[in-house]
Amino acid sequence: MRPPALRLDGVRKSYGHVLAVAGVDLTVEVGEFFTLLGPSGSGKTTLLRLIAGFESPDAGRIELAGHDVTSTPPHLRQTNTVFQDYALFPHMTVGENIGYGLRVKGIAKAERRERVERALNMVRLSGLERRKPNQLSGGQRQRVALARAVVNEPEVLLLDEPLGALDLKLRQEMQLELKRIQKKVGITFVYVTHDQEEALTMSDRMAVLSNGKIEQVGPPDEVYERPATEFVAGFIGISNVLERDGVRFVIRPEKLRMLEEGQEAQRGMNVEPGTVEQVVYVGMSTRYIVRLDRGDQLVAVRQNMDAPGQALRYEGRRVRLAWVPGHTYVLDHQRARSDAAAGD
Ligand code: ADP
Ligand code: MG
Repeated sequence: MRPPALRLDGVRKSYGHVLAVAGVDLTVEVGEFFTLLGPSGSGKTTLLRLIAGFESPDAGRIELAGHDVTSTPPHLRQTNTVFQDYALFPHMTVGENIGYGLRVKGIAKAERRERVERALNMVRLSGLERRKPNQLSGGQRQRVALARAVVNEPEVLLLDEPLGALDLKLRQEMQLELKRIQKKVGITFVYVTHDQEEALTMSDRMAVLSNGKIEQVGPPDEVYERPATEFVAGFIGISNVLERDGVRFVIRPEKLRMLEEGQEAQRGMNVEPGTVEQVVYVGMSTRYIVRLDRGDQLVAVRQNMDAPGQALRYEGRRVRLAWVPGHTYVLDHQRARSDAAAGD
């Protein structure tokens, strides 16, 4: 069996009093699209810089393809990094930017030209190789940055919020594009983002980071449907957390049925009465913020299938929220507690 593309073992890094990475263990398999997801300041960039070798850890071990690289300098690691600000060379053409790494490595001109051509093709920029970066759109510059990294055929490609500077529509297009490219070249991607939707869309697996620690690792559907901690539940999607009979659990908004007067719940559903406090129209769907009579606030979501404007009439109405107990997920306090203890 091939060794994993990346293995981190007890990796820690502090800057003065700030513990940026607080003991991370992680394995990324060859060919995976792996995402590090977390809020600003959670240690994502530091972790990526440690993997690339731009920083060295205070403790722990970093392996790439089964080799200990903990004290290997960046240029001798089989990684390439794509940064948010692209950092293209402004005086070089697109073709020269992409071929730069190959030239430094001493790859012969003919092979260089061929590989640059292939990389351009892959990011759909054929024909633009003579342009300068300032003659490109933001999305095109981003593609050049990607091509420049992919052309070196690294074992692991590290991407730090590479789509952060693009507007929403372009970002969504590039998300699919990146995913397509990754599948095609088969390079392992370690992708950093603070955008939960981006992480859910693109990843084979993801790790959720908070305060330099991993809260949960898993495929997107598992992390979304079965968050391991309250932090994960709250950070990914809208979290409805309830405590009933001493058990804390999460119900996702789309799993809640909002029943009106005269509507019956299905057998086996839990039902609680409440009042609609606020109605938020979000285009494809509407969010209903409901205050239960027992005091908790929950968010329910409905697709907008009714005539426009109907949803707003719900404000102030008495409703009942119903859910199937099997659609809830109990928060694992055992784990949360042992993690907290280990952190002391
Ligand atoms: P993220 O990329 O998730 O936003 P970072 O890895 O950039 O998080 O930062 C994690 C923590 O480490 C933050 O508290 C940040 O202020 C701190 N930090 C990062 N780099 C440095 C540095 N070079 N010097 C001092 N503190 C830093
Ligand atoms: Mg960052």
